[in-house]
Amino acid sequence: MDIEFTTEEQAFRDQVRGFIAASLPGDVKAKVEGMLELGRDDYDRWHKILNAKGWVAPHWPVEHGGTGWSPVQRYIFDEECALAGAPRVMPFGVNMVGPVIYTFGTEAQKAHYLPRILSNEDWWCQGYSEPGAGSDLAALRTRARRDGDHYLVSGQKTWTTTAHWANMIFCLVRTDATAKPQEGISFLLIDMASPGVSVRPIITMDGGHEVNDVFLDDVRVPAENLVGEENQGWTYAKFLLSHERSGIADVGRSKKQLERLKRIARAEMKDGRPLIEDARFRAHVAEAEIELLALEATELRALSEERAGHPPGPEANLMKIRGTEIQQRLCELMMEAVGVYAHPYVPEALAEGWNEAPVGPDYAAPLAARFFNWRKASIYGGTNEVQKNIIAKMVLGL
Ligand SMILES: Cc1cc2nc3c(=O)[nH]c(=O)nc-3n(C[C@H](O)[C@H](O)[C@H](O)COP(=O)(O)OP(=O)(O)OC[C@H]3O[C@@H](n4cnc5c(N)ncnc54)[C@H](O)[C@@H]3O)c2cc1C
Repeated sequence: MDIEFTTEEQAFRDQVRGFIAASLPGDVKAKVEGMLELGRDDYDRWHKILNAKGWVAPHWPVEHGGTGWSPVQRYIFDEECALAGAPRVMPFGVNMVGPVIYTFGTEAQKAHYLPRILSNEDWWCQGYSEPGAGSDLAALRTRARRDGDHYLVSGQKTWTTTAHWANMIFCLVRTDATAKPQEGISFLLIDMASPGVSVRPIITMDGGHEVNDVFLDDVRVPAENLVGEENQGWTYAKFLLSHERSGIADVGRSKKQLERLKRIARAEMKDGRPLIEDARFRAHVAEAEIELLALEATELRALSEERAGHPPGPEANLMKIRGTEIQQRLCELMMEAVGVYAHPYVPEALAEGWNEAPVGPDYAAPLAARFFNWRKASIYGGTNEVQKNIIAKMVLGL
């Protein structure tokens, strides 16, 4: 196993770092680093900057607009973006539906949708979950009935991230109610402007609006928007989920949060001394850092295996669990570090233009909202309990 970066990889890191330093808009970086809410336009600007450089979809095949980078280069790129305070590239187009379309779509679908994903002309959202179908996704009930050269789609999707910004949604729909649950599902691309589509916000406990209910009421969808074969959607859905989980460990972003935690602990005082010098708190920070370094080593080991030609296995499930546990722990420690200043809970302080005097130090204002919001990390992308089931079955053979 070799987890050292080569000279070429180090040079690549310098190139990426230089590009981001020169191109990332200062106001967007300030929002990411201040943990403020990002608007659609913030994501869109960074997406377009990356696309102009040809770097928005590094993992795509080169003929469709990918970079041809190795897995190690992709890892370096993700880490540098996180450390520099760049926003995420929204995953729904680039990481999810894009790979499904270039792998299973028709030539017409590839020609139409892939360039629009790269340019962000289409903003996608993911219509998988339904009330009663989350972990047990195959229980989904949204129906699609063939009517000539269209499907008529009715049902409800839920937890749909950024549906209020999206103009396209990819949906799992039931096309055969008589087949076994996994066998009667199809994968449809639906224009959000179609009559019968409506979006209702879900306000999460941090006061934010990122998820929604999406109602589909006899929506007419052209049959040409079916991806692959009718009733084979489960195969494409699983393929997509394997892409969803990759990169979910987010080591780079946790490193950035760890830096922030240490900065806060150096500024906060306890018994007349900086909190970072308190033995108990210091031990908690050290534990979190050790967990993070261990996760990074695991990710580098997986990369080393990939470099040697072995495709990733169930490590992705393991890294999802560990990565999100660490993210949540860092949120908790930051809350603990600011003590009483975490209590005045002012979600408005996360919005751009908020100019009231903060109750505590500036860095305290977003921490409670962040803590509540980050409860999501162990739920989305497949809950951590379900990931543990997969590990028990696939790795431990239980
Ligand atoms: C912030 C956020 C954004 C999301 N964005 C999207 C999106 O854009 N598109 C989309 O389609 N979905 C999205 N989801 C939905 C997400 O995929 C589901 O919430 C998730 O799959 C869990 O499903 P559920 O909420 O129905 O919970 P349930 O499946 O009902 O689970 C409830 C609890 O039971 C546990 N549980 C369930 N089954 C088992 C089992 N077999 N063994 C052990 N424990 C079990 C779960 O771990 C969980 O703790 C999002 C969710 C969140 C929180």
